[in-house]
Amino acid sequence: MQRVFPCALSPERYEQTQAHRTVRAEAVCPRCGEAAGLQRHGSYLRWITGEAGRCLRICIARFWCRACGGTVSYLPDFALPYRLVAVASFGAYLEGRHERAVQCWQGRLREYRRQMEAFAVRLLRCVGCGLGRAPPQGGQVWPWLKEACGSLGAAARELVGTFRIGLFKRYQCHQPAGP
Ligand SMILES: [Zn+2]
Repeated sequence: MQRVFPCALSPERYEQTQAHRTVRAEAVCPRCGEAAGLQRHGSYLRWITGEAGRCLRICIARFWCRACGGTVSYLPDFALPYRLVAVASFGAYLEGRHERAVQCWQGRLREYRRQMEAFAVRLLRCVGCGLGRAPPQGGQVWPWLKEACGSLGAAARELVGTFRIGLFKRYQCHQPAGP
């Protein structure tokens, strides 16, 4: 199972300081609800874009639950599940800001937006008024998420944490019974 946690570091800082080593698991296993203790279970590598659009390889902390035998990994919230480009750059793209990372990944970000818009109906059906704001008319997902959550990173974290759904898709790894 994958959890998304708030991380104050940039991808660069996270990588330089090997911050995955300081990630703490929750007291209660999000898969089975037991407090038997999640113990460290190595890490895995994934790619993420940094501030200037450069690709970095970071480690994601993984834990193992002694009660259910499942694993739980903790993704820093500057990253989107299964997407290379950092959430801040996607947010900048949606705002029409042309910073360096946005320029580097223009084509990929256009595709992310297309995927988010294609998924909007299902996302809105799942969340409803759950973010404290009425769902938008006409599927304008980004202004609605921004108003409700403040930033795209906060929105993506909230969607996974509370509604077990991503911006683009509902993934098995965010469900308690998933991998
Ligand atoms: Zn468990």
